Amino acid sequence: IRSTTVPNVDGSNNTEDDDEDDVVDLAANSLLNKLIRQSLVESSHRVEVLQKDPSSPLYSVKTFEELRLKEELLKGIYAMGFNRPSKIQEMALPMMLAHPPQNLIAQSQSGTGKTAAFVLAMLSRVNTLELFPQCLCLAPTYELALQTGRVVERMGKFCVDVQVMYAIRGNHIPRGTDVTKQIIIGTPGTVLDWCFKRKLIDLTKIRVFVLDEADVMIDTQGFSDQSIRIQRALPSECQMLLFSATFEDSVWQFAERIIPDPNVIKLRKEELTLNNIRQYYVLCENRKDKYQALCNIYGGITIGQAIIFCQTRRNAKWLTVEMMQDGHQVSLLSGELTVDQRASIIQRFRDGKEKVLITTNVCARGIDVKQVTIVVNFDLPVNQAEEPDYETYLHRIGRTGRFGKKGLAFNMIEVDKLPLLMKIQDHFSK
Ligand code: ADP
Repeated sequence: IRSTTVPNVDGSNNTEDDDEDDVVDLAANSLLNKLIRQSLVESSHRVEVLQKDPSSPLYSVKTFEELRLKEELLKGIYAMGFNRPSKIQEMALPMMLAHPPQNLIAQSQSGTGKTAAFVLAMLSRVNTLELFPQCLCLAPTYELALQTGRVVERMGKFCVDVQVMYAIRGNHIPRGTDVTKQIIIGTPGTVLDWCFKRKLIDLTKIRVFVLDEADVMIDTQGFSDQSIRIQRALPSECQMLLFSATFEDSVWQFAERIIPDPNVIKLRKEELTLNNIRQYYVLCENRKDKYQALCNIYGGITIGQAIIFCQTRRNAKWLTVEMMQDGHQVSLLSGELTVDQRASIIQRFRDGKEKVLITTNVCARGIDVKQVTIVVNFDLPVNQAEEPDYETYLHRIGRTGRFGKKGLAFNMIEVDKLPLLMKIQDHFSK
């Protein structure tokens, strides 16, 4: 019988394939979060607004009608199933659609409606009679650019004369081509190339400039400087918008450098609680026994969608193989996979093709699994000192108070790990 934490003969705790890549790929996480999420993240906090001109009236809207949008745009919004503006959109949209245009820096956690807001702003400012780039959106990666483009296409479904083009590596445009698409979405390097070297885009004609995922952007070597070079060439009347899910000092400094005279909107992140979660543990002898316990509840957990967490990559692999051999339809989300492969696994899980996702801490770190109602800790999260990792436990299982769905959590505990569980219990008083 092998336990997950039996040290190697040399005394170290790690086996060669257990230490997952410790570098958190922010862009990959952001993409996976977009894929795993199916609806708006609600918030009980108030939106904080800092106006560049505090004496000007502050508008907020409760309906999309109040925004006096073009009819085909309003139709697109409703076709996406949006009934009313999200919390951040209530404040941001009136500023973004104002005349004369106002610049904006907006920060709120992912899933709160930022992308939808700036896509709306871009679509509303396009002049369809003019066939040249008018809106420019910078994204950190090819995949994220495509995701934004999909939103443009969905929301702009009835704006038949509006077209999108991707300035991303691999999209080869012959020299001398006349770019007639009004909305360009791309990564900083390629956009810079298209603007300055290849002269495909005339930056002086851009009306709306969006810098999305600023926190991810500044994390990537060279992107800040490239973005600033692009921004410097924009006309002064161009509307400049910056979005970020987080707001550390570094993001803030970058935002202030790149967005002149901004209004600022912030929405605090919703705290996680364990209040709506029923937590159980199953006491087991060993790993085989944990596996049996999991099989016993398997029929029940696959009524919904479930995520099973293992402590190591090796354990996750073992569990996946066992379950598959027993004929269960599960998939393994592992750090070894490429972003595309992980995205496709998440998409299949989202679509219900697999009901159970097996993963590790590291792989799932930063991914918002809160839409999933059933979580199984096949191993408890522990840190390197083999103490409980409370934060990870809360992140796996916790939900946001008022809006979070009710959830179920099962912990499979080997007898010798019971003290860890008791510490977790004490820590959360649950
Ligand atoms: P963010 O850019 O902050 O991550 P998104 O704009 O991608 O957020 O929105 C998150 C999810 O909520 C998406 O699935 C989007 O379609 C949906 N959404 C956005 N705005 C609204 C709204 N006003 N009403 C309902 N759903 C919305």
